[in-house]
Amino acid sequence: MTQMTNRHWLPLYCNPQSLLPSVQETIVLFQERPYLFQDFVGKAITFLQSDEARKTGFEYDETALPCKWKCADESVFGVDLCLYAYSGHYPFDKGSLGGRFNDSSLPAATHHSKSNIDFGGAHVGYCAGVHSPCPDASSGRFGAIERPLRAGEASTDCGYLMGIIEPFKEVYDDACQSVQLFSPDRYHVLVSIPNEYLQPSWSSHHIKLLVDVETLTSEPVPYDVNKPYTHKIAGRTLFKVSPRFLDSLPEGKAEIFTSPDPTPIGEELIAEHFHIYDSEAEVINDMPSLRFLPYMRYILSSKLAPYPLKAAVTHSNIEHNRLVDAVRTERCRPYSFASFTGVFIDIYDEQVDAYVNLFQPIGVSIKPAGHAREVEFSSAEVHHMFDKLKPAEPKLGLGGVLGYPRPQHVLDSFNYPIIDC
Ligand SMILES: [Zn+2]
Repeated sequence: MTQMTNRHWLPLYCNPQSLLPSVQETIVLFQERPYLFQDFVGKAITFLQSDEARKTGFEYDETALPCKWKCADESVFGVDLCLYAYSGHYPFDKGSLGGRFNDSSLPAATHHSKSNIDFGGAHVGYCAGVHSPCPDASSGRFGAIERPLRAGEASTDCGYLMGIIEPFKEVYDDACQSVQLFSPDRYHVLVSIPNEYLQPSWSSHHIKLLVDVETLTSEPVPYDVNKPYTHKIAGRTLFKVSPRFLDSLPEGKAEIFTSPDPTPIGEELIAEHFHIYDSEAEVINDMPSLRFLPYMRYILSSKLAPYPLKAAVTHSNIEHNRLVDAVRTERCRPYSFASFTGVFIDIYDEQVDAYVNLFQPIGVSIKPAGHAREVEFSSAEVHHMFDKLKPAEPKLGLGGVLGYPRPQHVLDSFNYPIIDC
């Protein structure tokens, strides 16, 4: 039988043959410990004064304008305070809600100083949870933060990003439960798929999830009057599962699906086997204006990275691209930019009674004045260089500006990825 497809109902940007530029793998990025943001800024200034930075043609001096691009959330206000403490200048705002880079801010920022030092990225809340001598998967939670002005309550962080993801997450979770596998004879494994996850017109929801029948199934199960399991169930279609799907399962998983009782596909509904899109999203030139959307299936189904963290890493990658693209333009040619992009991890700490920000760099780009292109440093290179650097002395006492001394214990409470002990 010819392999059937339901891919032609997908918008062009969701088609698996449409190449999606790669973004960093969260689990790889977090093989390195993040920094306390206050340490990172100090090290960034030491770096800008070093021979390594001078070799790029970048000249650092005291007239450089500190700039930030990040979300409006008060949980990342410590970023402003750190930049103020280190430079003695109020930081210029190049960001907007959700940690978007606002490129229309560039003319004003370059008017204020010929040299801009940018720190920015998406942010994600982290609740360290119960402290344990051996960290385990249950001791930390991403995507939420305790809010001191609403005692005892936690709320989403970043609210903007989580708000975008939430309706997709609900539909994805439902599909994980309602796409079910079973075996009538403990030999052939069949998959029963709700019709709304096969063809978009079967669902009135604006978020459409389509199971990829090319990768998950081999063929529909023919009707046989003598085999009750083949009798049609209203609203569902029954397929033989593809042998490739079974072969790719982690050890022990294939046996679970050979039970005669239907078992939800659960987390085995990985990105390869489904597509998800918002049928009402604004699309310009075949791409959604929210450039984050084509990555949604990878964000939702990652087994190794908590989805709020993966979302923040993806978003920072996209916005970093917008930043470097903007500073390469002709109008920015005479000015210099040192841009430090990463993911802010926000933790509310009871001991210091304040939000504390960790920072995981995803990349640094240095564009000297007069140059069109920048010199780029990867996250691994930044760690390699920065781990050896001593933070510069802040202009103003950090403890006084932030309201707390250096909170090493907050950095220690961060335990992703999980380390065996
Ligand atoms: Zn936010």
